[in-house]
Amino acid sequence: MSAQIIDGKTIAGKIREEIKEEIEILKKKGTVSSLSAIQVGEDPGSAVYIRSQRKSCEAVGIGYKLHQFDSSVSQTEMTEFIGKLNGDRGVSGIILQMPLPQALDARSLQAAIHREKDVEGVSAANMGMVVFGRPILGPCTAMAVMKLIKSTGVNLYGREAVMVGHSDIVGKPVALLLLDKFVTTSVCHIATGERGTLPDYVKRAEILIAAVGKAHLIKGEWIRKGAIVIDVGINRVEGKIVGDIEFEAAKERASYITPVPGGVGPVTTAILLKNTIEAAKLRVS
Ligand code: NAP
Repeated sequence: MSAQIIDGKTIAGKIREEIKEEIEILKKKGTVSSLSAIQVGEDPGSAVYIRSQRKSCEAVGIGYKLHQFDSSVSQTEMTEFIGKLNGDRGVSGIILQMPLPQALDARSLQAAIHREKDVEGVSAANMGMVVFGRPILGPCTAMAVMKLIKSTGVNLYGREAVMVGHSDIVGKPVALLLLDKFVTTSVCHIATGERGTLPDYVKRAEILIAAVGKAHLIKGEWIRKGAIVIDVGINRVEGKIVGDIEFEAAKERASYITPVPGGVGPVTTAILLKNTIEAAKLRVS
């Protein structure tokens, strides 16, 4: 039997409804929530994200302000500007659009964002809370993956998961969040691929998550029967967006599967909005 599709758009819609209710409560307390985005230079990819962030914020009633800088801006100027936003009570959350010009050190600029305004959840402090199993402003995509898995209603206790990809913002935090649910978790990376053992790991997975960025790296025939399959990958192939997993073949073996697009992406954006509201609440508490 074909897998049930996990509809990211519907899940994101539910999160947005909850956010709208929270915004009304905050407004009554006199708290306005707003997201400040910083863009350096003119990357066409990040322009797409910015448009979508603005639209999503406006749809739920979160203020959105874009601060644009020329690519010649210095590290010191950027750090000072982030410091200003940190001190501005009218700003709930700050997001630094990637990519940044080579001359800027992205990691240290991200570290300059106050942890209570780090709505992407990528700072050392917020990642640290993931390690402790108590994310406050959790990394958006990793939190989205957990939300999608939870939506299946499957009891995770003692299950076997395989996380393909060990990036700081997706693979590593997802692995930690799964461990926290008592899921036995293996993490695969480039060396697993090079050693040729990736299919062996994938075949064991009752829960499979892929965040690699290589179109159809994971073959449908590797999918364990009845698995929950979450595809984070975004790859452009012949003008179409596809994931890291062979969707059509995987769908015939999995019990639940996310599509690409329409799976992880919309939920990630909804979590960004949720984090902005959480950040606004941190400011008033
Ligand atoms: P990343 O930082 O490039 O990480 C990719 C990971 O895949 C690395 O850990 C890499 O290992 C591993 N890898 C590469 N080739 C492999 C192979 N043959 N076998 C096993 N592992 C392999 O990327 P990311 O930021 O995590 O993003 C991954 C994908 O998710 C991208 O397509 C990105 O666009 C997408 N994404 C989507 C969303 C969303 O909202 N839908 C959000 C974030 C990212 P090494 O580091 O050891 O090379």
